[in-house]
Amino acid sequence: MPGQAYVGRFAPSPTGDLHFGSLVAAVGSFLQARSHDGQWLVRIEDIDPPREVPDSAEGILAELARFGMHSDLPVLYQSTRGADHQRALELLLERELAFPCGCSRTDLPRGRPYPGTCRAGLPAGRVPRSVRVRIANDPVTIQDQLAGSFREDLAATCGDFVIRRADGLIAYQLAVVVDDAWQGVTEVVRGADLLDSTPRQVYLQGLLGLPTPAYLHLPVVTGADGAKLSKRLRSDPLAGRSAPACLRQALHFLGQPAPPASNLEELWEWAIEHWNPHTIPRPAAMPANSGTSAEALY
Ligand code: GLU
Repeated sequence: MPGQAYVGRFAPSPTGDLHFGSLVAAVGSFLQARSHDGQWLVRIEDIDPPREVPDSAEGILAELARFGMHSDLPVLYQSTRGADHQRALELLLERELAFPCGCSRTDLPRGRPYPGTCRAGLPAGRVPRSVRVRIANDPVTIQDQLAGSFREDLAATCGDFVIRRADGLIAYQLAVVVDDAWQGVTEVVRGADLLDSTPRQVYLQGLLGLPTPAYLHLPVVTGADGAKLSKRLRSDPLAGRSAPACLRQALHFLGQPAPPASNLEELWEWAIEHWNPHTIPRPAAMPANSGTSAEALY
């Protein structure tokens, strides 16, 4: 939207320490926001207690502060947003855009789209477990600033997907859409491991009448074994490593020129001034469309 003030965000889940991969996402989103004279918001996505690691939210925020990255508004804890998540869920149910599903994991074909078992009502003997959104037949096309146009046929990849899990928790896909809109986020900058979630999110935005932000998915940092670094697997924490050295490394990973400065303040100043998203390496391997893999807990 022309003239609209830029709002970006970094939205870590408190599932472990900040590692180099999440630092890259934080730095990329921060530099995009700063170079647009925009706001940069931090949102702690603490709506999945079974996956949370105690004290990791505090640890992540302390690490960000050590790098000189501070949210421009008070940090939003997603767990405080339950009423709005619930309202969005009810709206979709009332309009029959979503439906209760009684299937358990064992009722469903592994690695294949949801077969529509409860779409037309719960079969006899089934009790409601999760809630799924009814997908349309048309593919969803999203625009990403690095990946370009990315098209996903939700019917072929995941089918009607879960928006409230069987354990009663609101699914990431719904919460992220409601909260990005509520915080007025105009651009989402995050790792390309979430690129294949974006069509589901854009689809939900359409159903809920919410604006679609711009998207920029950054290349994913992988370890020596080629696997994505993961907070949950405690890979490569940054704690104790020099902040200026890590920041230089993150800038290099993001295809930015090496800054002449060495102290943190000068590094940021230089990095903001020279930030060029067009030189970020295009993610080498875009994730295969794997809608079902991102779904947890039927
Ligand atoms: N909370 C997610 C994570 O830590 C990121 C969500 C997002 O950026 O949309 O992987």
